[in-house]
Amino acid sequence: VTMRPMATQSAYEMVSVAQAKESIARSAQPLGIEQVSAFDARGRVLATRIVSTENLPPAHRSAVDGYAVKASDGQAPRKVLGEITAGHVLDHSITAGTALRIMTGGLLPPGADTVVMVEDTEEHDAVMHVHAPVNLGWNVHPPGLDLAEDQVIFEPGTVLGPAEIGMLATIGHVTVSVYRRPQVSMLATGDELVEPWEEPPYGAIRDSNRYAVLAAAAEAGATSPWNRIVHDDEDATRSAIVEGLAAADVLLTSGGVSMGTRDLIKPILEELGTVQFGRVSFKPGKPLTFATVGKKLVFGLPGFPVSSLVTFEVFVRPALLRLQGHPSPERPRVQVRIGQQIRLDPSRPEYQRAFVRWQDGELVSSPTGIQASSRLMSMVGANALLELEAREGTLQAGERVPALLLATPPSD
Ligand code: AMP
Ligand code: MG
Repeated sequence: VTMRPMATQSAYEMVSVAQAKESIARSAQPLGIEQVSAFDARGRVLATRIVSTENLPPAHRSAVDGYAVKASDGQAPRKVLGEITAGHVLDHSITAGTALRIMTGGLLPPGADTVVMVEDTEEHDAVMHVHAPVNLGWNVHPPGLDLAEDQVIFEPGTVLGPAEIGMLATIGHVTVSVYRRPQVSMLATGDELVEPWEEPPYGAIRDSNRYAVLAAAAEAGATSPWNRIVHDDEDATRSAIVEGLAAADVLLTSGGVSMGTRDLIKPILEELGTVQFGRVSFKPGKPLTFATVGKKLVFGLPGFPVSSLVTFEVFVRPALLRLQGHPSPERPRVQVRIGQQIRLDPSRPEYQRAFVRWQDGELVSSPTGIQASSRLMSMVGANALLELEAREGTLQAGERVPALLLATPPSD
């Protein structure tokens, strides 16, 4: 066996987090539009404007159960002509001295201008007696109260949630144009990897990155047509990359991007496309690599389990949301008060895993234990990434730092 010498310096310029994100954003344009059923569209991003074509309600509508009357009759008794229930109309008109029973949602008959609520009435022998003042227009919803004709309901870029899907049903808009979901292939590289259901021989480990990253991609709205493990063989890795790319819009790889002699990903991506950057001033995950192959995106995630998930969060997730036309691809950035002192990394900004909760109107963080990038337990239960600046020194408990919120923090 001839051994290659180990390189001691990366050939790649170190880019900042901001530069890396800009480079990714330039390439992550919305993929395209498809038509889907409104009722399968939860979480999708609308690609068109939607305008109302009707008034809702279409005519004056009763807001309560009661009697449709003319207010000008005051508190005089009225002859009850019949009953209007929601969804049923009657031919009767209201004239002076008459009333119709009307149920919530019923449309007012011609001549009626007011609804007296049933609680303010008594009815005997088809005569209704009112024992409260009758005010013109009370308990009546005007046409267009819920929705006006020509009203813009949604602008493009609206994320469809329960209320939006309800509105689409209301207006009978059963098919919607939404941005396509990205298809994401996932390739785990490493001679040491076995499937989670296998017993790893001494020195081998179970592949966790592929399953963790696939779960993260699914949470970010992606579908995953293809995934596999490949060992650290150059030809096999090249073929796997070509295959994974052919199956999807985005290829994610894990491992094989650092300085070891078996780190094959970067040279193969140089051959197949353009490496946009191959090193980021970022902890954990300095060797994160981003390449484009035609219109397709490739992210070479670092091998350590924490590095692969944290780089996914900070760099890949926003890209997947951009591909879906998402209006706010970034996680919310908030200020948190740190519960414990933190030693800063002097050379790279660090994204520390933390658990934050509300306490007296403030978000307070506690660490998730030792922050080694091999230690996936530091990501388990984390709902925030503290964005720590690169400098000498230590932050004291009580100081404030920016943090990316990964999930809603629990309240006090
Ligand atoms: P690499 O960057 O390929 O040298 O990987 C660095 C380390 O990350 C390896 O030594 C493994 O301990 C770990 N690692 C790489 N790939 C995986 C994976 N798919 N699942 C879990 N751990 C991994
Ligand atoms: Mg490896």
